[in-house]
Formats: sequence, C-alpha cells, structure tokens
Amino acid sequence: MRSIDSESKRILVIYTGGTIGMVNTPQGYAPQKEAFHALLNSLPELHARAMPQWDIVDMEPLLDSSNITVVEWNAIGRMIAERYDAYDGFVILHGTDTMAYTASALSFMLRYNNKPVVLTGSQIPLCEIRNDARDNLITALLIAAGGMVHEVCLYFGGKLLRGNRTIKYSADDLIAFESPNYPALAEAGIAIRYNRAALLPPCKGDFSLQPLENFPIGVIKVFPGIQFDLFDSIMTERLRGIVIETFGAGNIPGHAGALLPIIRRASENGTIIIVCSQCPHGTVSLGAYETSSALREAGAVSGYDITTEAAVAKLYYLFSRGLSSDAIRTRMERSLRGEISPAR
Ligand code: ASP
Repeated sequence: MRSIDSESKRILVIYTGGTIGMVNTPQGYAPQKEAFHALLNSLPELHARAMPQWDIVDMEPLLDSSNITVVEWNAIGRMIAERYDAYDGFVILHGTDTMAYTASALSFMLRYNNKPVVLTGSQIPLCEIRNDARDNLITALLIAAGGMVHEVCLYFGGKLLRGNRTIKYSADDLIAFESPNYPALAEAGIAIRYNRAALLPPCKGDFSLQPLENFPIGVIKVFPGIQFDLFDSIMTERLRGIVIETFGAGNIPGHAGALLPIIRRASENGTIIIVCSQCPHGTVSLGAYETSSALREAGAVSGYDITTEAAVAKLYYLFSRGLSSDAIRTRMERSLRGEISPAR
C-alpha cells in the first residue's frame, strides 16, 4: 500500500532521454526537453494533491539509451549524490534498451544508499494518446515517495523489480522487463502491494558515490561450433575482465579443450573471468558437469544466477574501486547488493 503522506515527499526526476519523453519531429521520434517539460506540466494528475512534489533535471545531451556509457552513469550518479539529502527519492526516466545495465550500475555505484531510486521509461512516448508512459511515471513517483524501498529498482508494466536483477525481455510488449531469478519487489494492481520479504533492508553507513572508469572488459556468448582461436587475439593482458555466457549450468563445448588454454592464459594475465548462463532462469554450478569443472580449474569464477547486465556493471564497479584481482574474484562470487541469490 502507498504511504498516506506521499504528498509531503520531495522527489527528483532525472530525465536522461529514451522513448518516454520523445516527441514527434519531422525526422521521427526524438527527445526534446522543452516539449517534454511542457507535456509534463500540462498533465493535471502529475500535480494532483495526492502526488509528491517533484522537480525535474535533464541530462545533457538527452540520449537514446543505446548510446549510454559509463560517462552517463557517472553523470546520473552525480545528479543523485549532489542532491541526496534534499530529496526523499529519485525517479530516473531512461530508454528501455539499456535500462537494466544502468539500474545494475547504479545499484553498485550508490554505496550505502537508503533511498528509493526508481528507473522507468516506456515503450510508447507520453505524447501519444495511447501510451504506457503515464502509468509508469505516476506509479514510479508514488513508489519513490512511498518510503518502503531502500534500493535501486525498476518499475515497468505493473511490476517493481530489483534493478540489478532485471533484463529487457521484450522489444514490443508493454511488460518489457523481467527479473528471472528474483521475485518482484511490488506489484501495482488496484493497490501497490510490496513484497516486504524481498526488499533490501535499510543499510548502515554514510552514502557515497563510486564513479566508474571505462575499463576494457568483454562478453563472449558460446555457441555450437564456436572457434575459440578467433578470440585469442582479444584475450590479451589489456582485457581486464570477461563475462562468458555459457550453456545451461556453466558448460562450454569441449572441442579438444580449445578454450581452456586461452582462459588459463587470460587468468594468468590477470583477466577476471566470470561464468554466467545463457539461460535467464537458474544458476551456474561449476563442476556439475565435466564440461564446466575445467573452467574453474582454468581460473574462472562463477557468477551463479547473476544477469550478464549486472556482471558487466559489477566488473566496472570492482575495477573502479581499485581492488586486487583476488578481492575482485571473491566479490564476484558474493552478493553485494542482492544481485546473486544465496546458495541453495
Ligand atoms: N531506443 C530507445 C532507448 O532505449 C528505446 C526505448 O526507450 O524504449 O532509448
């Protein structure tokens, strides 16, 4: 249920671009700050008494989220950090394409965060008569003002999900995101019903922002017939980390052991190798099959049920903290912000 004093809360809306705020231009849909602000101001429900007070700031330039990088993650993180004490919660309007990556990155970057940071967007822009933007925005504002959530999350299509558990699941459905290995934090039906057991408890410590650096990392998805020797040239000491999307519970094709010497060499060079699964649901279990135990012996670590999106963001975060390779390996196998399920 929504807290009854939402109207006394102050929320900062950070508009980064994406479909939600795009308007029709002669060249097609494009983000336009002035037109979007005018549209927001013209919607009486956003200024109704039951709504929190909200201010809006824009990222410069506004971007289609396919163009978002570590630079923009840092800019969004700074906007939150500079105003952390002035607001009760934050709503980030973002394109859907990379929203799961940004949500994952912010979950790590905002250390000791105790405030709701709710990412949302839409599949149809707010300027269209039939759209999903209006509900996503209004409900995200109410959740940010509700005082229940102390973490980075993503609201879309009636569900509030832990940010670092999400994947973009559909390119055209209005329910575009899933959290395949963790239950929804809340469901917005007639009322907003929180799943209290799934929420992170408030944390103790002083809030701080860990900015990220753009370390050279990579993602490899294995497939039948993959010619591992083609990757030899990128697996150099320049590569700081690599996420390998394996089959099922962490399996790679044997191919007379073609990948293992490359992984062993990469690991000896100091590259951190994380094993994720191509299956959205379930966990990596290195050693369950012969085809996976060799990965661990070659120096790879298990990402368990982490998403590739969160694994990428976590690597950037741990490298940016300047930790040793051993410390990074240990932390990659441990949950820092609820991104990995406890061992079953
Ligand atoms: N390409 C757009 C973006 O991610 C799609 C969207 O917002 O839904 O910015």
